[in-house]
Amino acid sequence: MEPATLTTIKRPAPFADADAAHGEGTGSPRGGAEPRAGARPMIGGIEVDPIEISAKIEALDAPEAIEWALGELGPELLFAVSFQKTSSVIIDLAHRVDPAARFFYLDTDLLFEQTYATRDVLAERYGIEFQRHHNISVDEQAERHGANLWRRDPDACCGIRKVEPMRQALSGAAGWVAGIRRSESRSRAGAAKFGWDKRFGLWKLNPLADWSDGRVWNYIQENNVPYNPLHDQGYPSIGCTHCTVKPVDGADERSGRWRGTNKTECGING
Ligand code: SF4
Repeated sequence: MEPATLTTIKRPAPFADADAAHGEGTGSPRGGAEPRAGARPMIGGIEVDPIEISAKIEALDAPEAIEWALGELGPELLFAVSFQKTSSVIIDLAHRVDPAARFFYLDTDLLFEQTYATRDVLAERYGIEFQRHHNISVDEQAERHGANLWRRDPDACCGIRKVEPMRQALSGAAGWVAGIRRSESRSRAGAAKFGWDKRFGLWKLNPLADWSDGRVWNYIQENNVPYNPLHDQGYPSIGCTHCTVKPVDGADERSGRWRGTNKTECGING
């Protein structure tokens, strides 16, 4: 692999935006996140040009991109997993590079039982302790904000149950890894493979950005990687129980998320 060369910024440049969605998603401050104050795009103590480095990493395939990012950011690179099919692939890839790679998940307390079971199977298979991040209980949320907030204001619900725990999870991190793919939905079609995540103020790697659904399944099958059984029941994308249904035939993979609303992202990836 040709190592990516770092370049010290000579003049201000726009950030390479690793966010998946541009102008879509929650569009709500409740569903968004404040960047870390003063966070700058640094690697190895050097401020680098996100656009230049994004272009270099775009040429790397997922295993090389993960190896490069772990080499540059070390334990300050955190892998976010949702226990969907792409998480299975990324866990397997990262574990091959560094068995000590660090993984976390956001527990909304509203995940499918199959998702929790997948977590346990993957933990056993790879010897990983998945760091759990969460917020107030569902009951406490109902007391503070009323019942069924996910129906009345899903942006607020995601803000409480996903975005705030995400902010906690990334505290002190230099970068994070997500499993998003461009082919999943229109809102993810422009996702960079690597770039500066303005939303949280750190680097973001989307190593599977250019992978097709078929390639994901080929990898899982060829490497006998455990995966969430809900995929076999017609769920290509899996989130909370209250906000996930099966897509209709021909619709994009994420069309079963927040069905009947304009919402396409939870506020973490876009
Ligand atoms: S996906 Fe639905 S239930 Fe889960 S945090 Fe978001 S709005 Fe709430």
